[in-house]
Amino acid sequence: MSTIVVVGGGIGGLATALFLAPRGHLVTILDRDPAEVPADAAAAWSAWPRKGVPQFRHIHLFNARGRNLLRDEAPGVLAALRAAGAGEIRLGEVDDDDLVRLTCRRTTYEMVLRRAVLSDPTVRFVGSTQVVGLLVKGRRVAGVRTAAGVDVPADVVVDASGRRSQVATWLTAAGLRPPACDEHAEATVSYTRWYRLRSEPAAALLRADLGYAVGVVAPADDGMFCVTFGCLAADPVMAMVRRNTAFDAAVAAIPALAEWTTPDRATVESDARTMADRSNRLVRLVVDGEPVAGGLVLLGDSAVCTNPGYGRGVGLALVHARALAEVLATVGDDPAVLTPAFEACTRAELEPWYHAAVASDRVRSAISARVVAGEAWASIGAAGDDPAVRFARGAPHAAERDPVVRRALHRAFQLLDPPSTYWGNPEIGARVEEVWRELEGHAPPPAGPDHAAMGRLLAASG
Ligand SMILES: Cc1cc2nc3c(=O)[nH]c(=O)nc-3n(C[C@H](O)[C@H](O)[C@H](O)COP(=O)(O)OP(=O)(O)OC[C@H]3O[C@@H](n4cnc5c(N)ncnc54)[C@H](O)[C@@H]3O)c2cc1C
Repeated sequence: MSTIVVVGGGIGGLATALFLAPRGHLVTILDRDPAEVPADAAAAWSAWPRKGVPQFRHIHLFNARGRNLLRDEAPGVLAALRAAGAGEIRLGEVDDDDLVRLTCRRTTYEMVLRRAVLSDPTVRFVGSTQVVGLLVKGRRVAGVRTAAGVDVPADVVVDASGRRSQVATWLTAAGLRPPACDEHAEATVSYTRWYRLRSEPAAALLRADLGYAVGVVAPADDGMFCVTFGCLAADPVMAMVRRNTAFDAAVAAIPALAEWTTPDRATVESDARTMADRSNRLVRLVVDGEPVAGGLVLLGDSAVCTNPGYGRGVGLALVHARALAEVLATVGDDPAVLTPAFEACTRAELEPWYHAAVASDRVRSAISARVVAGEAWASIGAAGDDPAVRFARGAPHAAERDPVVRRALHRAFQLLDPPSTYWGNPEIGARVEEVWRELEGHAPPPAGPDHAAMGRLLAASG
């Protein structure tokens, strides 16, 4: 049994308690935001103060890997999510209970997870408590210090403080080496607006590719759904959708999106929201073969952060927390052993998703930049183009026509199989190429106006 102090009670911190507390560990979660849990999903959406999670009220879709982990290890949480209104979208055959993703607002998801953790009397959740530093003995982290000057000792400190983790600053301030950090950020941005269906239970999940931007309809719970555009930050045309009137004009110009947002079908529930940080980041505590400190582990986004556009972070944080339980059971909490052992697990389980995100971002940004520069959508991925661009252009069409590609795509996007089973898999590549070669020249048109036309339309939108 170990005393575990977790910095951050978001998804990773809560999952740490969910998987460690039943195994006898004494878990204390410290979060900078208040500890009170809202009464219901409506209150969580409208009034839960969660400044520590800037993406709290942005698009979230919950991948099958995370959903299956709850199904197998915390079935009560999955049942509570369903009871709170979460939907399930089956991506495979009717009897495939693995390829199923969850749909609800992040606010609802976190409320249910928080309640489940708080129902365990052995877990302490301390709100309104910001961690500002580490307690260090030699090269061992032995606890944390709060902004109120309180020292909280621990056998193991779990940094689950998210994509803006200050752990590098804390280590340096304690006289230790900072972690190694790889970062890859294409300058992309997303714009989101929320809606509620007037009478139907849930919107469909769909994706509309314009070349210079991708628009999605993302269903959630209680009839709520959002429309989100992902695009280049430097695109002056799509930057206009920050304004509500321009957002509405953009949606109206894309038939697949517009059919969900018409006033007779849905009400508007938010202004257009911008989220600019879509970077990929990989942080390693083992530098030059040595842990910079023992007794500390990085979990969730503070260790591996991937572009939110792929919807991986929540599932990865759950997987990571479950892995920590396993590593603790295997090697114990000896600080010199635990930190490198957990880091090895991070390398094996999470790091491939970082590299996949970086590679996909490069291709997608290159495609968008070419379309913004005026290249015709039809020529993107034409014969002789970069094979990665051809694959990206052809794969969605191949997935519609070839069940082998469809299954590989879904299983990789839902984190059920490693990225290499899809990206760079020679068999999948050949199948995509076969479909794309047939379609060339008469491929389906983009989902809405071209870049120049969208520019004129948004400029005129007031
Ligand atoms: C715009 C956007 C959309 C996303 N969409 C999806 C999606 O569709 N699907 C998906 O799976 N993932 C998505 N993600 C990623 C997902 O939100 C994260 O991967 C997930 O929340 C990671 O959990 P975490 O516990 O690492 O961090 P978080 O959930 O961010 O939690 C961090 C916690 O730490 C607390 N904290 C921070 N600093 C301190 C401190 N010093 N002291 C005490 N407490 C502190 C915060 O208050 C917070 O509670 C999205 C991310 C963004 C930015």
